[in-house]
Amino acid sequence: MVPVGETRPINGVNGTSANQVQATQQQQRNPYAPRYADFLSNVSNFKIIESTLREGEQFANAFFDTKTKIAIAKALDAFGVDYIELTSPAASEQSRLDCEAICKLGLKAKILTHIRCHMDDARIAVETGVDGVDVVIGTSSFLREFSHGKDMNYITKTAIEVITFVKSKGIEVRFSSEDSFRSDLVDLLSIYQTVDKIGVNRVGIADTVGCANPRQVYDLVRTLRGVVGCDIEIHLHNDTGMAIANAYTALEAGATHIDTSVLGIGERVGITPLGGLVACLYAANPEYVKAKYNLPMLREIENLVAEAVEVNIPFMNPITGYCAFTHKAGIHAKAILNNPSTYEILKPEDFGLTRYVSIGHRLTGWNAVKSRVEQLRLDLTDDQIKDATTKIKELADVRTQSMEDVDTVLRVYHSAVISGELKLGDSRGFDLLLKRHRDSSVSRGDLTNGTVPVAA
Ligand SMILES: [Zn+2]
Repeated sequence: MVPVGETRPINGVNGTSANQVQATQQQQRNPYAPRYADFLSNVSNFKIIESTLREGEQFANAFFDTKTKIAIAKALDAFGVDYIELTSPAASEQSRLDCEAICKLGLKAKILTHIRCHMDDARIAVETGVDGVDVVIGTSSFLREFSHGKDMNYITKTAIEVITFVKSKGIEVRFSSEDSFRSDLVDLLSIYQTVDKIGVNRVGIADTVGCANPRQVYDLVRTLRGVVGCDIEIHLHNDTGMAIANAYTALEAGATHIDTSVLGIGERVGITPLGGLVACLYAANPEYVKAKYNLPMLREIENLVAEAVEVNIPFMNPITGYCAFTHKAGIHAKAILNNPSTYEILKPEDFGLTRYVSIGHRLTGWNAVKSRVEQLRLDLTDDQIKDATTKIKELADVRTQSMEDVDTVLRVYHSAVISGELKLGDSRGFDLLLKRHRDSSVSRGDLTNGTVPVAA
C-alpha cells in the first residue's frame, strides 16, 4: 500500500503510472501499434543493403567464384533488396573484375562497393561502374591505436577528400565509422556532422564487434538523427545474438538503411540475417513487407548461399528453419486448425511455405488426429477418433509414430469399426488387429516423417 499523499515510485514493479497502463492496454491489443514516441520510426520505411557479397565473403567458409556471385546478386535482386554491396575492388584483381561484371548485369538494385577511407581505393572503386561507394574508417581508440594509427584530424581530412572525390563522379557516397559503439561520442558526432555538411548521402554506424544492446543502439541512432540530415545506415554484428533486435530498434530510432547478409554470414558469427530481419519487419507490418519483397524467394536464396558456403539452414532459422511452421502440442494443434493466427505471427503461405501439424507423438490431441482422419476421408465419429487417439498416444509412449504408422492405426481402426470387428474402447482387441495387420502387410509408401500437411 502506498500511503495517501506519498509519491509512487515510477520504475518499480508497483510503480505503473496511468500513462503506462494505457500504453500497456494498447500494446496488448496490438504490440506493434504506433505510439506517440514513434514519430522517428522507419519500421515501415526502410532500405536493405544486402552485403552477402561483401560481409559474407568474410565468413570463414566463403569462397564465391564469379558465377556464384552473379547467381547470388541476381537472386537478391529478384527478391527485391534495395542495394547489393560488393567487396572492395582494391582487394584483388578478381574482386575488381567481379565488381565490374555485376555492375553490367543491369539489376534493379543499386550496386555499392565497400572501401577503406583512402584515395587509392576510391579511385579504383569509381571506375568499376558502381552506383555508390561505402567508405569506412576505424574511429574507436582501439582501431586508432592498434589498426591504422591515425588521429581524428587526419581521419576528418581524409574523409572530406574521399567523399568530395566520389561525389564529383556523380554517384552515392556513404561515410561510416567502424566500431562506433566504442568510439568517443563527441568525435563521432563531430565527424558525422562534418561529412553531412559536405553532402554525404548516408552516414553509417557499425557495431563491428557485436557489443551493442538495443538500448544503446536506440540512444546512439536517435542522437545522431538529431545531428545530421542525411540518411543513417547501420551495420550490426551478431556476437551476442542481438543483431536483429538491434536492427529493429535502429529503425525505431530513425535509421533508414539496414545491412544484412543471407543467413547472417560474415566475420565471426556474422551480421543481421536477411531472413530474420524480414521476419521481424513482416511481424511489424506484413502489408508493407509483402509489397516490397518477393517473400517466396527467401528459401531459394538461403539454399543457394547455404550450399555455396557449405552450411545447413539452422533448425531455428526464422521462416525457413525446418520446424518454423510445425505445430506439435495437442492444444496448439487444435487452435491452429481452428485459426492459424492463434499460434502463428508469420503466415507460411506468404513465404510460399506450408504449415505442418505433427500428430504421431504422445502430446498429440484428437482434434489434430481428426484433421488427418478427414484428409484420409475416413468416416469416424468424434468418439471413435478419441478412441483411436488414445491408441496413438499409447504407441507414441514407446516410440514416436511416423505418419505412415498413424495412418495405419487409423485405417485399421476404421475398417474394423465398419466390419463390426471392433467396439469402442476395446484396446486389447485393437492391439490384436494391429498385430494381425503388421504380420500381413507390406510397406505403404514413403511418408515417414510423422507430420501432416494441412491446408494453409
Ligand atoms: Zn561487418
